[in-house]
Amino acid sequence: MSPSEVSPRHVGAGGELTIDLDAIVANWKLLAGRLRPDARCGAVVKADAYGLGMAPVARALWAAGCRTFFVALPDEGMALRAALADGAAPPARESVATATAEAEICVFNGPDRSSAAVMADARLTPVLNHLGQARVWSDTAASAPLPAWLHVDTGMTRLGFDEAEAAKIAADPACLSGIRVEAIMSHLACADQPSHGLNDEQRRRFESVLERLASLHPPRRSLANSSGIFLGPDYHYDLVRPGAALYGVAPQRTAPNPMAQVVNLKGKILQTHVIDTPRSVGYGATHRAERGRRVATVAVGYADGYFRALSGSARAHVGQTPVQVIGRVSMDLITVDVTDVPESDVRPGDFVDLIGPLHTVDDLAREAGTIGYEVLTSLGPRYARRYLGAAA
Ligand SMILES: *Cc1c(COP(=O)(O)O)cnc(C)c1O
Repeated sequence: MSPSEVSPRHVGAGGELTIDLDAIVANWKLLAGRLRPDARCGAVVKADAYGLGMAPVARALWAAGCRTFFVALPDEGMALRAALADGAAPPARESVATATAEAEICVFNGPDRSSAAVMADARLTPVLNHLGQARVWSDTAASAPLPAWLHVDTGMTRLGFDEAEAAKIAADPACLSGIRVEAIMSHLACADQPSHGLNDEQRRRFESVLERLASLHPPRRSLANSSGIFLGPDYHYDLVRPGAALYGVAPQRTAPNPMAQVVNLKGKILQTHVIDTPRSVGYGATHRAERGRRVATVAVGYADGYFRALSGSARAHVGQTPVQVIGRVSMDLITVDVTDVPESDVRPGDFVDLIGPLHTVDDLAREAGTIGYEVLTSLGPRYARRYLGAAA
């Protein structure tokens, strides 16, 4: 990376995080290509696009043809609206009709009394999860009709109208007065386990709620997240909502991962030690380095999302050579046994590959006892970031 590509505040950064926007676009197209013919593919970009940068990610996906985006919070929706207005010049080959259409931005957590008016101003589409939110949005729509999605709970017991509330809406559509229902959605609890019985049960409950709410004439239905897409066409309905798979996380627990890897993380070596007499390494003296080992200290730690739970369990690579993280992960530093690597490759300023093609986000997550989602959303702001791809 040339110095001009590093932002001044990242001079001396302990790591380089590279995000491949072309890979994200390729993943979106791969998912879209798996859908039944009439189904559309949206994109979930909540939590700063799973930590990878909402603005560049959403602009790249918009340029690729994505028109529906999902965030969790109203703030995220407003930031996304601004990012797409700034940077989403549509490619010339698009027809005028699609080029001028504005992105649909859906906010999973819905509105409350303090956020509803600003959401309407930013032309955000809330997902309404219960009758209280429906009332707030209905009041906000007093002057002009407003769009909304409805979330019905089919087995998560997290967000969404329960059966009694859905019955209430069916009996009294006036509780949605002023609201234009754009879609009805639900969310799967076990989609990454294709053989889990709850998948089909949720799909059947979804069908039955759709029937109950047929009088609302929702133009679209949506059930599947990333993993749900791989449960097959019965789960695709009109629009799917992938997040993790766009960012390279494996959508199914057991099958090989069909997604392209998006993230590359390199940690910078600050110092190396040749062990002449056996001694301990790091806090708690949990690791003992024997005579003749070589240890590199790398400027990445748990404050950078390199979890403390990785202490003594994580692998990394120098070039093609696997190396072991030893001792405890501390806030800003880790220690790596680099005995197997030529000394000339592990001098101060050289890099150790922490996440890459040889060691994926899912691999690191497994070593930490967590999931790829948490690895990505924990990466944090201290790395020098670089975006690759046509959209960068
Ligand atoms: C986060 C989220 C998604 C995306 O899920 P992935 O597993 O990342 O594909 C879809 N729908 C809802 C309601 C979500 O909260």
